[in-house]
Parts: sequence; structure tokens; C-alpha cells
Amino acid sequence: MTRSRRSNKPAFRCVACGEAIEAGQERYEWEFRYGGPHRQHVTCGYPKRSQLTQSLLGEVYGTIEGIEEHGWGGSVEEIVTNISAVKESAEEIKGQYEDAAENFGGQGPSAEKAEELDSFISELESAESEVENAEKADDEDDDEYLERLQQIAADAVGNCP
Ligand SMILES: [Zn+2]
Repeated sequence: MTRSRRSNKPAFRCVACGEAIEAGQERYEWEFRYGGPHRQHVTCGYPKRSQLTQSLLGEVYGTIEGIEEHGWGGSVEEIVTNISAVKESAEEIKGQYEDAAENFGGQGPSAEKAEELDSFISELESAESEVENAEKADDEDDDEYLERLQQIAADAVGNCP
């Protein structure tokens, strides 16, 4: 990852907004092993975690980022639904890592990722039931109660491998 100001070479396109990155505009630039550099205006924000990986986990990060953009929800039900969405995404990717690990007799980096995702999924399950069973405290108003539940969800997804 570098941050730089472009010179008057041909225009690059920002992967966030799709607009050209003009001379003098600051950009972030990053690259994977294949496929050339990706560039984004500094004003379009720091690249998201899902943009900075080409691993299967990018999909899980994408699900989390999508939820975080809109917030965890304004009711117990919504928060649980959102945690479940992350869990489903993690389960799907875990399955793909397990399939990949089969070629290596269930060993190797893919098997390790599947295991990491497995404990992440357990954490999400605990968060789901913690949110579902959380009683509103006597000294809590509705907002504080919801914030506490949203924090449980945010903490759980913070452990995404
Ligand atoms: Zn942009």
C-alpha cells in the first residue's frame, strides 16, 4: 500500500467511485500478486478490508462491512438477523476452505482457515443467544439497551479471522 500524488500520466480510474484520478489528486494504491494495481482517491476513503484481500474471507468481510454501513439494527430481531447473515457467510466460506483442504488430506492452510472460521462461527452463535436473551436492565433506557446489544454483535464480528 502506498499513498501518493499522481503526475500527468494517463488517467487512472478510482475503484471506489469509478471517476478518473486527476493530476494532483491523492490516491491509495495497492496490488495483489496478479492483475495489476488498484487505485482509489484518498477522498473516497481508505480501502476496506474486503478490498485488500483476494482470499475467500473477502466475502465475509464484505458482509460485515455491508451491515456496518447501515448499522446493526434497531431491534433484537434485526441484530440477530444481521449476526446470522455474517454466520451464514462464514459457514459458506468455511465449506469452501474445507473443500480446498480435501486435496491436502484435510491439512494445510485451508484446513487452518476452516478451523479459524469454525471458532468464529461459534462466537457468532454465542453472540446470537446473548442478544436474544439479554434482559433490559432497570437503569437502562431503550437506546442504552440497544447499544449494548449492538456492541455484542460488533465485538463478535471483530473476531473475524
Ligand atoms: Zn474515487
